Amino acid sequence: MLKPSLMDFTQKELEDRIKPKFRVKQIFDWLYHNYASSYDEMKNIPKNLKEELEKEYLVDPLKIIKKEISNDGTIKYLFELQDGKTVESVWLKMKDDIYDDTGNLTQEAKYTICVSTQVGCKVGCSFCLTAKGGFTRDLSAGEIIAQVVNLKRDNNHKHNRKINIVYMGMGEPLDNLDNLSQAIKIFQEPNGLCIGGKRQTVSTSGLSSKIDKLGEMDLGVHIAISLHAVDDELRTELIPMNKANNINSIIEAVKRFPIDTRKRVMFEYLVIKDKNDDLASAKKLVKLLHGIKAKVNLIYFNPYPGSDYKRPELKDMVNFQEYLVNHGLLCTIRDSKGIDISAACGQLKEKDKEEKEI
Ligand code: SAH
Ligand code: SF4
Repeated sequence: MLKPSLMDFTQKELEDRIKPKFRVKQIFDWLYHNYASSYDEMKNIPKNLKEELEKEYLVDPLKIIKKEISNDGTIKYLFELQDGKTVESVWLKMKDDIYDDTGNLTQEAKYTICVSTQVGCKVGCSFCLTAKGGFTRDLSAGEIIAQVVNLKRDNNHKHNRKINIVYMGMGEPLDNLDNLSQAIKIFQEPNGLCIGGKRQTVSTSGLSSKIDKLGEMDLGVHIAISLHAVDDELRTELIPMNKANNINSIIEAVKRFPIDTRKRVMFEYLVIKDKNDDLASAKKLVKLLHGIKAKVNLIYFNPYPGSDYKRPELKDMVNFQEYLVNHGLLCTIRDSKGIDISAACGQLKEKDKEEKEI
């Protein structure tokens, strides 16, 4: 049995467990404003209460065991969980600090954290390295929260600075919906990390019924759909569970999903050379997304040793993008952050395994 951590609970839930109640606010302060990693650090909490708590709850369920820093500011982390399993998170610098002529900071750098939701993944996409290791277990809400706490701590990122979260690390978030929704709520806690739904994007390979369930929870989060193909045959080759959740069912679920009227649903399209990088696919994509407030993000397939697919050519990416834009779709090409480290999800974990085997 895994020991729960203090980060598994909302403030209210901890108040039901810890008396007197006001101690919980202090504990939240230690966890989410000071990023404490042990009971020792919690100076204003009485020793006997800490001893009681220590028997039942971990403070931080994660340990950083590997870190890779890219030239572009991307930092990839490998964590060890209490049962020795490992997961990754990525710290992404989206915008640099901007200074005016007199040297005053006018705009602070913007960061996004990419978190994992499972050890491994059941979906088994043919292009994804995470899938190769199969599925081990779901992450608890606390293990999801602790990834962000650890990255903020390690980068001296003050608690009141804004941060975005994308659930795009290892695992299929909607296949772990209970812990995912609990984590979304804990992130939002006003006395905690205070990261609103608008700053959280759940990326899914398209479990249609779970998209509906997430929508019904009305947590205010964004969704990103990993579409990757415009016909069911290719999509099933890439994402086997497309058989039970075909493109049409996903599009219908997206149309039902509550989104902020000012926002768009992101469709991720992994571009693979000679598979889905042609203009006929672009044309079908335009048709498919007709009537949806969509934004397409084209992603270069990132090869790894032994992968079956190839990275697309720049000219094909640009042509594809141009076609979409000329036909009224918003479309960006995701720059491959951290390309010099181990960019795509699952790759740092794989590298760590290789190094241990040598
Ligand atoms: N399971 C969820 C979220 C995690 S995967 C999902 O599939 O959406 C996050 C993103 O990484 C997905 O869009 C996926 O397509 C992408 N990805 C996986 N393997 C990749 C690779 N080899 N190169 C580039 N992107 C990859
Ligand atoms: Fe799982 Fe996403 Fe990888 Fe597919 S791409 S195997 S859903 S983590």
